[in-house]
Amino acid sequence: MGIKIGIDLGTTFSAAAVLDKRKGIPVIIPNRDGERITPSVIQFQGKNVIVGSEAKDAYESGESGCTSAFKRSMGSDEVYCTIDSVGYTPVKLSAIMLRHIKNEVEAVTGETVDEAVVTVPAYFYHKERSATLDAARLAGLKVKQLINEPTAAALAYSIDHWRENARIMVYDLGGGTFDVTLIQMKSGGKIESLRTKGDHTLGGKDWDARLTSLIESKAEFEAGLTVNEYPQLHNAAMRAAESVKKQLSTKNIASLRLSSEDFGKFKTEIGIDEFNKATFDLLKRTTTLCEQLLSELNLSWNDITDILLVGGSTRMRQVSAFLKERSGHTPLMHVNPDEAVALGAAICVWSPQPEYNKGVAGSISHENPSKHTGRVGTETKLHNALSIMPSDVCAHAMGVIAVSADGKKYINKTIVPANSIIPVKCAESFHYYTGEKDDNELEIYMLQGEKTPLESEVIGKYTVCGIKHDPKNNPTVVSIQYSYDLNGMVHVQVRQQGKNADLKLIEDPVPKDMSKFSLPAEKVTASAQPQQLNVVMAVDVSGSMNGYPLKEAKKAMCHFVDKLRNYPGTPQVGVVAVSDRSIVVMKLDSDLNKCKIAINSIEEEMAGILNGADPFEDIRRMLRNAVGRRWGIVLADGRWDDQPKAVRAAKMCHELGIDIVGIGFGTADEKFLKDISSGEIESMFVGCNELVESFGKIAQEIGETSPKRLGRSNKVTAVSTWRAIGETQ
Ligand code: AMP
Repeated sequence: MGIKIGIDLGTTFSAAAVLDKRKGIPVIIPNRDGERITPSVIQFQGKNVIVGSEAKDAYESGESGCTSAFKRSMGSDEVYCTIDSVGYTPVKLSAIMLRHIKNEVEAVTGETVDEAVVTVPAYFYHKERSATLDAARLAGLKVKQLINEPTAAALAYSIDHWRENARIMVYDLGGGTFDVTLIQMKSGGKIESLRTKGDHTLGGKDWDARLTSLIESKAEFEAGLTVNEYPQLHNAAMRAAESVKKQLSTKNIASLRLSSEDFGKFKTEIGIDEFNKATFDLLKRTTTLCEQLLSELNLSWNDITDILLVGGSTRMRQVSAFLKERSGHTPLMHVNPDEAVALGAAICVWSPQPEYNKGVAGSISHENPSKHTGRVGTETKLHNALSIMPSDVCAHAMGVIAVSADGKKYINKTIVPANSIIPVKCAESFHYYTGEKDDNELEIYMLQGEKTPLESEVIGKYTVCGIKHDPKNNPTVVSIQYSYDLNGMVHVQVRQQGKNADLKLIEDPVPKDMSKFSLPAEKVTASAQPQQLNVVMAVDVSGSMNGYPLKEAKKAMCHFVDKLRNYPGTPQVGVVAVSDRSIVVMKLDSDLNKCKIAINSIEEEMAGILNGADPFEDIRRMLRNAVGRRWGIVLADGRWDDQPKAVRAAKMCHELGIDIVGIGFGTADEKFLKDISSGEIESMFVGCNELVESFGKIAQEIGETSPKRLGRSNKVTAVSTWRAIGETQ
């Protein structure tokens, strides 16, 4: 049997650790050179691949074939670097790094690595976690679990400092990111993450950038060197910045020398106060996030037991000094910030696996922390290490694109709230209207984050297949279940209400262009939303309609209105009479009785006797702002005077998503009817005594929301028709 290890796959350094059962504590496994951490730098030299310090030295002295910091691009499939015409993705590079760590551990311990826990930043999205797992697989590692870095750090700390109910704030400032996580030690050896927050654009590199500017202004002030005049000055200042920062972690004054062919030589010093002043706002951003996290939990600094510092940038002295000033606690560096994460992962590899929960957030226990018991014996430590059960929370909420309650815009409807303890499963029901067939499809867009659909991370697009139609035309209820597994990876299942099997899902590529979700929902959804039906009926009242034809038309229109009474929701109807003028007989109204009265009030020649006008402008104005499906039904006999103008006006309706059905009889022009209608199939040519029947059919088809007869596909975009049930009722 081999060993189980914890691996911190860091942006700048990586480390491996194992639980030493004799000592009862996790210990770092140094590499073959005796180093406890290995720089995450790779150099390709012909067929040789060099990893670690040698590659880092080569990188710093500008040798070719070197690459580093690839973790920052984890999850992207793009080629991160090309060496000797071979492209390497972040996954491939991370796999090389992980394989190196595995090989080193096996060489040093003489044992095979059986299983590993690999750490990831708490803020990692699904695709970054998935890429990490892929890299581990490529490296030949069996991964028991991914664990969030702050949780791992708290685990390492807890072995020696277990105090039930203690609340530990893990302040993690790395090279490119900042995270703060609140963790509580609970009875039964549980370490529970309560909440996590972060700024993923804030890290050591921002301090470096400030120092770069400081060095540049000193060069100008002290030696008259400007970046405009000497372009190499900027790169030289940038290279010096990190070393100045590191010097200032132990000294009050850092000295630096810059040289290049461009500007010659420049020597200066930077004091700690200058550095602190130039970077204070960055530091302040971190404590503001800490305070926001506390206030979201209704806690204050006094409710915190300890602050644990993790991440290379916490070595800057300003971090502990300012945290102490704000919080009153002296931050702990009990565990080496470079090693804590790997040590915690080595404990996690032995932890029991928790069960799925239903979207519960980490709960705060208000008991006072028990007293720290002082030195802990080996046996107790081992017992602690083996029985600690860490629980992570998900940093990001998970939701689906849906239509807002007022039907006007797209929203990100949360299904799993952020900070739910993982693993977690949550479901939400949505209703939508299917086509008439029994194999309706629906598209769902899965989002991570709580912002609008366009601002959130789209992590998946699926087509749900085989949704059954309700014969009574009721909306179909579909339940979407999202889950985060222990690795923080997401999963989706969809089930139709009343059925006992999951629906088939086909994963589609996530579209690059999501801009349609920035449009008002009605624009994209008008053709597919039956929740609200809006119909304007326009009837020809020219002289040729006198007598029997108009009587039949009015009868047919009233019949149509009666049919709408069975339609779900509150249909709205408007009436227009057209001849030489277009007259609005009744504006859109949901009072169907009133509508019938308006229809019956239509008189022969009320708008003239000839066919000089068309009703499309009125139809468009009446339906333009209506929410839901919008129809114009135009009944005409004869030929209109300005048919091209009428066709243009009808097309404007089509473009707005207003469907036009043209019904003609008598001497009506068949081609013209087709031109004004939304589709060929939507124009009808009927006999005068068939009008009632025709209107009945139209009402039925509109009422059934069936795209079948109206020439539409049976596939609709889920987002265009979904409403969360809670939203609309
Ligand atoms: P990490 O991502 O946790 O490996 O942290 C890397 C960051 O820590 C980089 O920005 C480093 O410049 C910074 N760092 C490492 N050592 C020190 C130090 N002694 N003083 C200040 N910053 C440091």
